[in-house]
Amino acid sequence: MKFTPAKPSLHGETLDSLGARLAEAGEPAYRARQILGWLYKKRAASWDEMTNLPRPLRAWLAETFDLESTSLVLGRQSEDVTDKLLLELRDLSLIETVIIRAPQEGVGLDQSRKTICISTQVGCAMGCVFCASGLAGLKRDLSAGEIVHQLVQVCRREDAHTPRARAELASFDNIVVMGMGEPLHNYENLLRALTILNAEWGLGFGARRITLSTSGLVPKILQLADEAAGFRLAISLHGATNEVRGQIMPINKRWPLEELLPAVRTFSDKHGRMVTLEFILIEGVNDMLDQAAKLRDIAGDLHAHVNLIPYNTVEGLPWKCPSLTRQQNFMAVLQERGVSVTLRREKGRDIDAACGQLRLKTERDRAASPAA
Ligand code: SF4
Repeated sequence: MKFTPAKPSLHGETLDSLGARLAEAGEPAYRARQILGWLYKKRAASWDEMTNLPRPLRAWLAETFDLESTSLVLGRQSEDVTDKLLLELRDLSLIETVIIRAPQEGVGLDQSRKTICISTQVGCAMGCVFCASGLAGLKRDLSAGEIVHQLVQVCRREDAHTPRARAELASFDNIVVMGMGEPLHNYENLLRALTILNAEWGLGFGARRITLSTSGLVPKILQLADEAAGFRLAISLHGATNEVRGQIMPINKRWPLEELLPAVRTFSDKHGRMVTLEFILIEGVNDMLDQAAKLRDIAGDLHAHVNLIPYNTVEGLPWKCPSLTRQQNFMAVLQERGVSVTLRREKGRDIDAACGQLRLKTERDRAASPAA
C-alpha cells in the first residue's frame, strides 16, 4: 500500500524544508528560492536548465531528489472542452488529471477560463458503487510532490499553447481536488501540496480558487474547518436520505447525514463561505422528485449551492444517466424555492471523462498485453 520512491520528489519540498536540506549540504539559504523559481516560474524539466546553479549543486540535487515524479503517458482532447492527461508514477501506477475549459464569448478556447481537476490517490478506498476509481480499491496515497507535479505538467502543457501564460504564475483559473481518490483520506500530503501551490515561492495560487471535494469524512471536515487556509469545500452528497445515499456510498454507514450535515455547517460557519453539494444524477437511483425535495431542504438549511451532474456511464457498471427532461424536472424543484443550483453539461464523454475511466481502460489494456 505504501510506496517509498528511491528519491523524494523535489516538488514536495517547501521553502523551509528545502532550505534545511541545503544548509545540511553546506549551501547558502538563498539557493532554495532560486531552485523553487526554476520549478514553478520556469517549469524546468531537467537539471541542466537550471543554469544559474553551480554544477556541483545541480549534481547534488540530482542525487538527492526526483525532478519528474510523474510522466505524461497520454494527453487526450475530447471533442468538447475537456482535456485529459494520463500520468505514470515511478511505480508505474497511473493517475488522471483533467483540464476543463469554460468557453467564453469572443475568446478562443486557449484563452478561456480553465479548471484543473487533480487526483490525490491511486484508486480509492471509499467504494462508491457508481465510480470507476473505486472499482479496484485503494492502491496507495500520492505524495505531496506527486500531487503538485500534476499541476506543473498542466502548466507546461498550457504554456505551450499560450506563451503569454509563461510570465504568469499559473496558466489556469481554478483547481478542484475531485479526481481519483478521497482527498481527505490523504490529508497530510494534500495539505502540504496545497501549501506549496498557494505559497508565493510556489505557484502562488490563491486558496479561494481551490476546492476540496469529500465523500464525507466527518472528522477531517472538522479538522479542515479549524485550518486557516481558506480553501473551498464541496461535499459529494449523491443521496438526500440515508436510505438512498447508503445504497451507493458505503461511507454513509460510518457517517450518516445526521453527522455529516452538522460538520458541513461547522465548516461554513467558521469560514463564512458557501459550500457546494455535488449530486450525480443516476437514473432510477436518486433522480426522483422526492429526492429533489429533500435535497432542496438540505441545501436551503445549509445555504449551500447545488451542482447537479448527469451520470457519465462507466463500462461494466449498470448505472445510467437520466433523460434531459428528468434532469430539468429535478432541477426545477430546487429552483422553485430559490436554491442556488447549476446543472452541469456533460463534458468529455468521448475521452472517458468519468473519474478513473481512462486509467482503468489503460490498465486493462496493459494487463491484456503486458509487453506493450
Ligand atoms: S466517487 Fe470519489 S470517493 Fe467515491 S469511490 Fe470515486 S473517487 Fe472515491
